[in-house]
Amino acid sequence: MSTEPKTVLIIGGGIAGLTAARELSRQNVRVELVEKADFLGGHAIQYACKATDQCLQCGACKVEATLKEVVESDNIHVHLASQVQGIARNGRFSAQLAAAQVDKSEGLKSCGKSYNDNPIKCAGIRGYSKHNAKYYDTHGRLNPDTTAQSDRVEADAVILASGFTPFDATRKSTYRYGDLANVITGLDLERGKRANGTVTRPSDGKAPQKMAFIQCVGSRDERLGNLWCSQVCCPYALRTAMSLKHKNPELDITIFYMDIQNTGNNFTTFYQQCQDGLKFVRTIPVDMYQAEGDRIQTRYMTETDGTPVEEVFDMVVLSVGIMPGGDNQALAETLGIPLNSDGFAAGVDALDTTATSGKGIFLAGTVQGPKTIANTMAHAGQSVGNVIAYLRRAS
Ligand code: SF4
Repeated sequence: MSTEPKTVLIIGGGIAGLTAARELSRQNVRVELVEKADFLGGHAIQYACKATDQCLQCGACKVEATLKEVVESDNIHVHLASQVQGIARNGRFSAQLAAAQVDKSEGLKSCGKSYNDNPIKCAGIRGYSKHNAKYYDTHGRLNPDTTAQSDRVEADAVILASGFTPFDATRKSTYRYGDLANVITGLDLERGKRANGTVTRPSDGKAPQKMAFIQCVGSRDERLGNLWCSQVCCPYALRTAMSLKHKNPELDITIFYMDIQNTGNNFTTFYQQCQDGLKFVRTIPVDMYQAEGDRIQTRYMTETDGTPVEEVFDMVVLSVGIMPGGDNQALAETLGIPLNSDGFAAGVDALDTTATSGKGIFLAGTVQGPKTIANTMAHAGQSVGNVIAYLRRAS
């Protein structure tokens, strides 16, 4: 590669974009990192550590460490609350940025805060990490040099790392998410845990004594046309349940499931521990109703003979799946690359899913398909390897 400094535009500041930015920065490549939210870290920074008396390899600490390195790097220029409006090719890439609409209420429901009540505190909550504080002033506003002001950035290559959209649980109407206060999603539970330090019922702030996790909400669902396994929800639910059980051994937890996905290293041992501590019911509940005391009455059929069962829980957690990002279509059109039939960005090589049909445009993370945090970071590393090789060839 020539000694001329190179620049890579990364679209998306979740764990894929952060990992790619960090790896490029370590190789002295400059990065323009564009994120539409007003904080870095995406969904992954909202997850709490799930360690019991041992590390359960959830990856939450890796996200913090990566974010810290990105925030401290002089090679990385961050554009928050920003989006790429258009890209021209002039030998390099010339991207026009614009301000993105930020929904400041997102994520605050679970901690009971209102942005307008206390913007400084909410900026901290929304940032989900002390490392994001660098981008805010003392009034809780984004620093002007961090937000897009009709900026134009030039780059030698592009990494699309715009992530995924969690399944909208209101589409499973019989679960009455948004209607029954104590039916929440896994992401709600994580946000509440990070904001309050513990898991409490949204309706009254009390600790639940009996909980259920429902797997495959939005994934592997023929009626919705979402046939893929999201890969993350089984490891997420099992680690979370075991972590809660470790803190409160009296807590009664049921996992409703179809199949349990392998959760990585030492899975057999971990799954055995889960079976000792949790109750597994191989069926997916049909619907839910309000029971006395804001509890949730759940109806399901037994796997063996379809006998209907009604069971009441203090709180129900929906393990929502990974859906294609809401911006995928627009970004694919802007970059001139195709999506696959499920709506994820299409790679050109089954063995290397980071390369696209667009010269100099690469993929990282869940924009290409469901992945765990560990797999997302590995994919981003692979993407950076291909970008470096491309930059060498191009110089
Ligand atoms: Fe269902 Fe588990 Fe796959 Fe998620 S990871 S879609 S919960 S089987």
